[in-house]
Amino acid sequence: MPGARRPLPRVRAGEMLQRLAEMYPAVTTALRFETPFELLVATVLSAQCTDRLVNQVTPGLFAVYPTAEAMAGAGAEDLEPLISRCGLFRSKARHLAATARLLVQRHGGGVPERMEELLALPGVGRKTANCVLANAFGLPGLAVDTHVFRVANRLGLARGTTPAQVEAHLQRRCPPEQWGQLHHRLIWHGRLVCHARRPACPGCALLPLCPEGRNRSRGGGVEAAGGD
Ligand code: SF4
Repeated sequence: MPGARRPLPRVRAGEMLQRLAEMYPAVTTALRFETPFELLVATVLSAQCTDRLVNQVTPGLFAVYPTAEAMAGAGAEDLEPLISRCGLFRSKARHLAATARLLVQRHGGGVPERMEELLALPGVGRKTANCVLANAFGLPGLAVDTHVFRVANRLGLARGTTPAQVEAHLQRRCPPEQWGQLHHRLIWHGRLVCHARRPACPGCALLPLCPEGRNRSRGGGVEAAGGD
């Protein structure tokens, strides 16, 4: 594994967080939404699906089912044709129909603002719940998706083998009021620079601080050609 042959340099987490903030000063989710319900639905749809495609699909879905109350009256078979361009659309349709009913039954049609209540909704895991908390309500939430997982580990901000471990490590590095922004900054850095297969280390502003980048610069961690 890259970086495993010698001890990693001391990670300067504060400096990294500051530099990330300068690089990505005002970032937010790429998912388009007007209400917490719309964000919850869009985030569920975004699993194994690009935000761009979700943004193409949700206007048609929300035109028919704009609220939990409206969607609660639908069955999965009603939702499927509207979201069929998204991966795993059949299970997502099932989850969304069941979630809408639970929102009406338990939360008066609103979206709860507590992690445990969000996790009780079908198809909602920690990543989705954290996205909703941070982006819909401005509450502390640090969702770990594939970009956050990869970039945080490469930078040494986290050393985790599971999303839950990475989430816990990042939360210790960063004050709660910055969790949502850190999530977006790591995502954008993963999308724009720190690609999965071919990270653009030579031009990366974090290279002087990054254990993985420095190891690659010394000739370690060379991966097969290909792009993201
Ligand atoms: Fe990623 Fe390379 Fe930048 Fe480190 S130096 S964050 S590995 S692109």
